[in-house]
Amino acid sequence: MQLKQAQRMPHAILLYGEEGSGKADFAQALSAAMLCQQPAENGEACGRCSACQLIAAETHPDLALIQPAPPENTKSKKPVLNIRIDTIRQLCNKLSSTSQFEGYRIAVIENADRMLVQAANALLKTLEEPGERTLIVLVTSRPFRLPITIRSRCQSLRFPQPNQDIALQWLQAQGLKSAEIALKYAHGAPLLALRQQEEAIEQRDLLAKALIAGINGETSLSYAAQLADLPKDISLGWLLDWVSDLVRLKNTGLEAGIINEKNRPYLKKMAQKADLKRVFIFHDQVIEYIRKESIALNPQLLWENLLISWDAL
Ligand SMILES: [Zn+2]
Repeated sequence: MQLKQAQRMPHAILLYGEEGSGKADFAQALSAAMLCQQPAENGEACGRCSACQLIAAETHPDLALIQPAPPENTKSKKPVLNIRIDTIRQLCNKLSSTSQFEGYRIAVIENADRMLVQAANALLKTLEEPGERTLIVLVTSRPFRLPITIRSRCQSLRFPQPNQDIALQWLQAQGLKSAEIALKYAHGAPLLALRQQEEAIEQRDLLAKALIAGINGETSLSYAAQLADLPKDISLGWLLDWVSDLVRLKNTGLEAGIINEKNRPYLKKMAQKADLKRVFIFHDQVIEYIRKESIALNPQLLWENLLISWDAL
């Protein structure tokens, strides 16, 4: 809220940080504070005025919330969620019309990295020539996926992770078992940890079993069918955690900050035998599969490929 109080609000803010760190909540609180008619002394929204009530009902005419959506008329069960040019064009029209409350017009674009190229280009025009009293807040956990032309027009604001002790206490108060492990897996982001919950920990354990099978003299390949049932983009992210743990141990011998703490002894054995160059090639292979998440690649085949490469690291 300091930006607002200092009366030097930029036209566009890029709010980035780990998934689940509360960025989107912050963006909404910031919008509410900007639109509230009787903000508190500390700058926060009052929650009672007509503007605040409209925001709560998601009907404030000067506030637009954009989220990735499936394509129209899709028949796919798992459609790809994107932000398309039509959505951004509508938004830009809205932002260039006059404010209904003679105040700010605000757009919050969540998961902004999901903007398709044409959509990003359409937004760029508005970012280059923003109207008076407009604020565009781009929220993302993957700022590097946004075009540099967009990023350079925004004031970047990194959303820090909350203090880990407080996060842990908070998670325990929510009744989350294994809060410590969940927080590690969520890279320190408490909201994400809560979302991933116990189910994800079981799924992570399955992945761990597959990845340590080789060290135990079994073959990883027999786990491919089970792993194929996990949500692909999430499980591939977990696999990347294993790769980064391996690189950390291999490259620096530094054991602090390992994500897969539970499997540290196995990771150490793997780090001894793995070839660093092959690990980096494997890393690129996983990234490639994550980028192609929209392409219908047979998941079992994908995991078979990955596990064969993993065993050969
Ligand atoms: Zn208010």
